[in-house]
Amino acid sequence: MSARILVVDDVPANVKLLEARLSAEYFDVMTAANGTEALAISRRAECDIILLDVMMPDMDGFEVCRRLKTDPATHHIPVVMVTALDSPADRNRGLEAGADDFLTKPVSDVVLIARVRSLTRLKMMTDELRMRAITSLEIGMQAPERSAIADTGKGGRILLVDDRQSSYERLATILAAEHTIDVEPNPTEALFHAAEGNYDLLIVSLDLNNFDGLRLCSQARSLERTRHVPILAIADPENSTRLLRGLEIGVNDYLLRPIDKTELLARARTQLRRRRYTDHLRDNVQNSIEMAITDALTGLHNRRYMESHLATLAEQAATRGKPLALMILDIDYFKSINDNYGHDAGDDVLREFAVRVRKSIRGIDLACRYGGEEFVIVMPETDLHVAGMVAERLRRSIAGEPFAIHKGAKRIEVTISIGLTTLERKGEAVADVLKRADTALYRAKHDGRNRVVSQAA
Ligand code: GH3
Ligand code: MG
Ligand code: MG
Repeated sequence: MSARILVVDDVPANVKLLEARLSAEYFDVMTAANGTEALAISRRAECDIILLDVMMPDMDGFEVCRRLKTDPATHHIPVVMVTALDSPADRNRGLEAGADDFLTKPVSDVVLIARVRSLTRLKMMTDELRMRAITSLEIGMQAPERSAIADTGKGGRILLVDDRQSSYERLATILAAEHTIDVEPNPTEALFHAAEGNYDLLIVSLDLNNFDGLRLCSQARSLERTRHVPILAIADPENSTRLLRGLEIGVNDYLLRPIDKTELLARARTQLRRRRYTDHLRDNVQNSIEMAITDALTGLHNRRYMESHLATLAEQAATRGKPLALMILDIDYFKSINDNYGHDAGDDVLREFAVRVRKSIRGIDLACRYGGEEFVIVMPETDLHVAGMVAERLRRSIAGEPFAIHKGAKRIEVTISIGLTTLERKGEAVADVLKRADTALYRAKHDGRNRVVSQAA
């Protein structure tokens, strides 16, 4: 998918120039002649990256950027300021407004394309995470944006890889004002150190003695433990072509020596804020995946998960020639527990029941809440005989010990009935297995409850 770049500039000639260069690289280009138009386009989520002119009448680029970055709807769109001004003070003003990077006019083609490409990758990843979190959580998805906007970007754990003492001492002193900072002067130790240290940001010098700093960056990108840790590269101006290479392999941002103190701090904060934002998104995705497969009351898997996973387990058992046992458990006279002691007491019983089930089964067994007070347990590599013993043990673990309700003020007897069967034939439909277990359960109920009935195929 090609990224959509929004070019914002009040001078038509500048717009045309950037548009031509970006189109030549197959980016989709949209244009806006002022800040108001740019904000409207961004809010409609029509663009992936914004190239923003600084000097514009009415609203200048700094103000547009500030508004984009404080609006939860547009906060995540990378903004590159395009400016004729190139003093550290101007750059810092932009960084404070939340800009992700700067390009100085006249804009070099190579730098432009490298920057846009690397920000495109970042944007695509963030979009993917946002989309997954939104789809599965079905909430407005503003929480991560809101906390990202409030985040100061301070208080990070930073590893600085630099072998020049005068350089790292100065950088460490500057950074220590806002972060916890470790220095690693030995590049061969750096990757190990980075992987072990749980850092929020790596700052890597590309002017190391006898060592290719880019190699380190690329290794950090491919290692699971450091894959998502942002990298800020530092280089002498004569090494600037290597910086472009760095952006291609996943370096997030860079600074040229001599390092301006305020700019270093501002860029570090930007990386930290972004890192925390994507971590937050990732956690949301993780949570929503868990929510989608878990029953909220008991913490067991839900029916949907069981049904899709059961098919996989049955297939595995068939191809490996191993048995697979399945039981349906149903609490006896559960309705009267609700009727006599209240719905909350019923919920207490369900929760405690799940605790006891978990204690009685192995890690590879799959336990799920199939319906109200009905549960299914699937046991790989277990034949009918062994499964019968497990079921009996389970039955006793419920009937043998009364359940606490009303916050422990009362204890009541609970029993369950269990219908048990196994997958018999290769390729047998799981629905048939469930049906057989259900028939066995029906017999257990019919024969007086509080018992296990096994049903061979
Ligand atoms: P049997 O021995 O034949 O299984 O009788 P039973 O009363 O257990 O079965 P029945 O299917 O008639 O009633 C099940 C009850 O479970 C009805 C329903 O209100 C209750 N129930 C379903 N889900 C929940 C829940 O999440 N919490 C509580 N407290 N009750 C629930
Ligand atoms: Mg019941
Ligand atoms: Mg029932």
